[in-house]
Amino acid sequence: MQSMAVGLSLLAASGIGAAAQTAAQAKTAPASANGATPLVTQAEPHRWAIVMHGGAGVIERATIKPEAETAYRAGMDTAIRAAAKVLDGGGHALDAIEAALKVLEEDPLFNCGHGAVFAADGTNQLDAALMDGATMKAGAVADVTRTRHPISLARAVMEKSPHVMLIGSGADEFAKSVGLEQVPNSFFFTERRWQGLVDQMKKEGKPVPARPAGAPAAPGKPVAAIETPDAHKYGTTGMVVRDRDGNIAAGTTTGGTQAKLWNRVGDTPIIGAGTYASNQSCAVSATGTGEYFIRLTVARTICALVEYKGMALQAAVDDVVQRQLGAIHGDGGVIAITPDGQLAWGFNTPGMFRARMVEGGAVQMGIYRDEP
Ligand code: ASP
Repeated sequence: MQSMAVGLSLLAASGIGAAAQTAAQAKTAPASANGATPLVTQAEPHRWAIVMHGGAGVIERATIKPEAETAYRAGMDTAIRAAAKVLDGGGHALDAIEAALKVLEEDPLFNCGHGAVFAADGTNQLDAALMDGATMKAGAVADVTRTRHPISLARAVMEKSPHVMLIGSGADEFAKSVGLEQVPNSFFFTERRWQGLVDQMKKEGKPVPARPAGAPAAPGKPVAAIETPDAHKYGTTGMVVRDRDGNIAAGTTTGGTQAKLWNRVGDTPIIGAGTYASNQSCAVSATGTGEYFIRLTVARTICALVEYKGMALQAAVDDVVQRQLGAIHGDGGVIAITPDGQLAWGFNTPGMFRARMVEGGAVQMGIYRDEP
């Protein structure tokens, strides 16, 4: 009950200002059953718009402590406002996404950067991608272990190398060569994620790796769980933006899936699977079990439906996430945006951390399925 109260009061606090959002300016979806403010589904021309996610999963009120819910909401709020600040200053969609995702890469709650899940060998291996809809240039990195901000490295690959994707130690070396901060792998360590790995390895009867060198000393007693083990085992973060010039972009950053085999690569850095942007169609960032998103090339498929079939963005998202992904038993969700300002999200899990904002409006945020 308490968590519901927190959620509803925060939603109420995120109401869209009436003056800024007249019917002529921004369309909204029908009011939700729980009475929360309807979502803005269409941004007016020449105004920026943002949609973000912080991971999908078995996220229900019963599985997350109220304090954790408040912290997740605060984390998303800080990140989306970091992007809004860039866009308010006339910044490019790519700058806004990088600024916001760097904030989340520092937040231990989210599965990216510091706070990333562990691979089965006890290391943090990070994936990220960024794509510019105007130029269709893209940069992606996989299995990075030493670069503090993988999203900035993805951008550097896009802008400072002739390539689209770099992996492993070569990617970290490139990061170093372009002056991006390097950290020991233990920088990404959090006790909560470590316990998540240990529990999963034990449950699956697999060998538990040694506690990483450089990690803080083990606490005397287990840290209190802030959510049930399956609640939020994904937690990738992603953002799509349309800037004032009408350019769109997408970015995604993640630690991948907990207890993954080392050097496994998920959908996040696969252009067209977990991340895609084209000013001809839309920008998409995904979260969920990456293997399914790779098989369906989820992000590009949504954009193809928009581009070639002329589908409305939300209809394209629903077709791929609810129908196609469901048909192969994939789980997760996406966020999406079009150059003409349509905003959408969709997920087939019980919850997805998500937020959207249009210029002149307030942050609209949701976690659970019954929120707008
Ligand atoms: N999609 C990510 C992966 O499979 C995980 C996530 O979304 O949390 O690597």
